[in-house]
Amino acid sequence: MAVSPLAGVQYPRSMGEFAAWFSADADCRDYLEWLRWPDGFVCPRCAQLGGWRTADGRLMCIACGARRSPTAGTIFDRTRTPLTLWFTACWLFATQKDGISALSLKRSLEIGSYQTAWAMLHRVRSVLVRPGRDRLQGKVEVDETYIGGQELGLRGGRAKGKKALVAVAVERIEPRGFGRARMAPLADTSADSLRAFLVDNVEPGATIITDGLQSYRPAVIEPYIHDRLVGAAGPAASKLLPGVHTVSSLAKRWLLGTHQGAVDEAHLASYLNEFVFRFNRRRSRSRGLVFYRVLELATAHDPVRYRNLIANPEPRARMPVPPATRGHPASLERPPANRPWRTTRPPNSA
Ligand SMILES: [Zn+2]
Repeated sequence: MAVSPLAGVQYPRSMGEFAAWFSADADCRDYLEWLRWPDGFVCPRCAQLGGWRTADGRLMCIACGARRSPTAGTIFDRTRTPLTLWFTACWLFATQKDGISALSLKRSLEIGSYQTAWAMLHRVRSVLVRPGRDRLQGKVEVDETYIGGQELGLRGGRAKGKKALVAVAVERIEPRGFGRARMAPLADTSADSLRAFLVDNVEPGATIITDGLQSYRPAVIEPYIHDRLVGAAGPAASKLLPGVHTVSSLAKRWLLGTHQGAVDEAHLASYLNEFVFRFNRRRSRSRGLVFYRVLELATAHDPVRYRNLIANPEPRARMPVPPATRGHPASLERPPANRPWRTTRPPNSA
């Protein structure tokens, strides 16, 4: 875990490399396969390690013959859109500092339908936050804010110019600066709603810094430590909670800028996820690495893989014969220059 992937080897460093690596759907499938089964194919049915590729691009278990597509269970599953287009969408999504709107994506990919571009971006967004993982730690500012209204016409809902209540949490770094952030829509400012947000987004043991709003008293109990800034509420609190103030402002500006305020209220949560995903990687120098992370998240959606971890915790005693010695489609033989990440891949059976 936590080993940094290599630039130019495991992910493309530039648009040029990207284009060279992923010129065909088979290249994209290879890459997804490698991300998903970095130590070789694991059978979803019998947890056997090792498989070979069938003519239609799926992997077949060497023991029981079960077949699995590298895209099954990922956001690319059963899509009619070519994988090369999906990869380009992910690349643009990851490498543009502020992301990309559905309209820009439609133009960039030269696809006919705005709906298709919009749906692709939503599928990509849907994988960005893993519940319960990467929760905030240490000293965490928490506050709530309204998004929408006059400046941002949230669509959907009955009232035009309606505002949505949003919870914001930001790690405070001593002596100054901010760490990671999380944001989510809130039903109301009740203790139950605030408590649910905290449990989802902040690690137990963290110190929660809030203003004097009464609901925080019952919301911030064990396993958290409460640092309540008594007497501070409303505009005066923004100076005492500079992290949430800054992050809220940036989020509103981003929604107005990249998405021009064209945000459906029903999808506000996923836009907020995208915003914090970008905010939390604001210091990442390599945009290619962000692309890698997006695809990694997209392929990690497979529940089978998780089950395998539990069902088959023992290292394998007997290693399967490499597919290469068994006769398989020539696609595995394509030159590694086309697929540089393959060069660091452990052989399927080694
Ligand atoms: Zn099997």
